[in-house]
Amino acid sequence: MKLIDGKVLSAIIKSEIKEETAHWVAGGGKQPHLAAILVGADGASETYVASKIRSCEEIGFKSTLRRFDASITEDQLIDEIEALNDDDDVDGFIVQLPLPAHISENRVMEAIDPKKDVDGFHPVNVGRMCKGLPAYISATPFGIIEMLKRSGIETAGKHCVVIGRSQIVGLPMSILMQRNDNPGNCTVTICHSRTVNLKEIARTADILIVALGRAEFVTADYVKEGAVVIDVGITRVADPSKKSGFAIRGDVKFDEVALKAGFITPVPGGVGLMTICGLLTNTLKAARKEIYP
Ligand code: NAP
Repeated sequence: MKLIDGKVLSAIIKSEIKEETAHWVAGGGKQPHLAAILVGADGASETYVASKIRSCEEIGFKSTLRRFDASITEDQLIDEIEALNDDDDVDGFIVQLPLPAHISENRVMEAIDPKKDVDGFHPVNVGRMCKGLPAYISATPFGIIEMLKRSGIETAGKHCVVIGRSQIVGLPMSILMQRNDNPGNCTVTICHSRTVNLKEIARTADILIVALGRAEFVTADYVKEGAVVIDVGITRVADPSKKSGFAIRGDVKFDEVALKAGFITPVPGGVGLMTICGLLTNTLKAARKEIYP
């Protein structure tokens, strides 16, 4: 079994982006500028946004955080998004999800200028990805593709089973794995909560991508000998032995699946660490106007 180490890979990618940014700026290019909108005071969202801002600083990007009270109306938030759309200094921006229940996430995502949609959630970017056109690929699928590529995993002709069909992970992952590219060229099966015989289907996977959000759901009997297992899940489970009172678990029962898998990603220390690399890559592309010249 080979461990696909998100800590090592993400550090390499970040240092590459840092180097490319320095080179771009030294050549007269504009310093990439990422803005983030944070609504309310959700603890996890605060942590994610803080880490995104910190990463920008580390690699030489400019960053701006715009905070709003949870009571902001949908129309007011759309006005703020339009202001960022019109701000020539901002190359890309994100609206941290989830939003308060009174705000439509779809309306908010659609208000973002696709050229600045570095989270890759706007229907224009999703549509362009489906058509194989240059697009901002969203962070988690980007991270998984980089893990496969940089681990030298052969994907062409392989059977890839994706468990989960969410808009942010399962669905885009299934599209990327079937496209005519490397990584890609897989025969893809996408599974969800209504799938019958999930275990039997999973067991036919050469590459198993698990994103269903249930701690340690995938046990060794879901996995073919030698399969590549990518665990996207992040679930907090009570753990009195930890100072925080909880531990992070993936969707895969690591200890037993690792004995069977050819390659496996750990949780924590796997896919989660790769996601920031997608956002930073997209922001550099935005500053260089690579996707939308
Ligand atoms: P989601 O929107 O809740 O989607 C879960 C998917 O799993 C749905 O398609 C659902 O099917 C399917 N599912 C649920 N129970 C199932 C079962 N028993 N059998 C088969 N399919 C089942 O979740 P998500 O946003 O994709 O996130 C999934 C997990 O990844 C979560 O733990 C999340 O925290 C984590 N995550 C991690 C990262 C990262 O950076 N590592 C990024 C995003 C998400 P239906 O469509 O039929 O409901």
